[in-house]
Amino acid sequence: LPPEVPEDVDPADPLPLLREGCARWGLTLSPRQIQQFVTHYVELVRWNQRVNLTAITDFEDVQVKHFLDSLAALPLICQELEEPLPPTRPLHLVDVGSGAGFPGIPLKIVAPRLKLTLMDGTGKKVRFLEQLVAKLALSNTQVVQGRAEELGRQMAYRGQFDLVTARAVAPLNTLVEYLLPLCRRGGLAIMYKGPGAAQEFMEARRAIEILGGDVVRFAPVQVPFLPEQRFILLVKKVRHTPQQYPRGQGLPRKKPLT
Ligand code: SAM
Repeated sequence: LPPEVPEDVDPADPLPLLREGCARWGLTLSPRQIQQFVTHYVELVRWNQRVNLTAITDFEDVQVKHFLDSLAALPLICQELEEPLPPTRPLHLVDVGSGAGFPGIPLKIVAPRLKLTLMDGTGKKVRFLEQLVAKLALSNTQVVQGRAEELGRQMAYRGQFDLVTARAVAPLNTLVEYLLPLCRRGGLAIMYKGPGAAQEFMEARRAIEILGGDVVRFAPVQVPFLPEQRFILLVKKVRHTPQQYPRGQGLPRKKPLT
């Protein structure tokens, strides 16, 4: 194992928390998938010395708070799409504000049939993601630099994705204006939230409606080995998003839809 991995880790079972957490969802990780997660961890820690990617670098914390947390929406997504776990259809997923690759990279590792686009506004994050995608040898994966509210106005991105995810990117009323324009009609926006989720959700209901969304699930989720409660909001796009959205000039953030 590489030097970034703690010495007491068993090379035959290097990620026991991740493996056990996945098993609870009925997911068995192959040796290649385990290896890919180890590589994600190692690259994260290496790059984090130069580029501020994450405050969470402890080996066990990364398994729970990054890897398992990222995967926690997958059972809900598969249920909603009536797909097996992992899904078999080549659904196109865009992860907005992916940062160090969460939740997009763990989702792609366990569901390799997904087509993945990783999107981030920051050049350093994009450089990290590009080299990570190469190291992991991920198929059908692209990285794009840009802000969601700008790319969401371009034909190449607007309405193109079956699944749109975001974790820790913006409050929900802002976030839905970033995500729903990217989603195709019939597709799903998947938002990962912590303790303030219920309040944020109340404040985003109108925006969801205006942007053509329909709430299908607002679910508390228990991430294995994590005491705190998390929430997943699933919004289905049922109508086209009106042309004027997303708005420019930082308005989704400065003046969220009410
Ligand atoms: N999603 C990752 C995670 O959960 O670990 C990263 C979260 S980090 C707090 C927020 C990331 O979103 C940053 O990398 C930032 O550059 C990116 N970001 C914020 N607003 C964005 C926007 N409007 N369009 C694209 N990227 C954005």
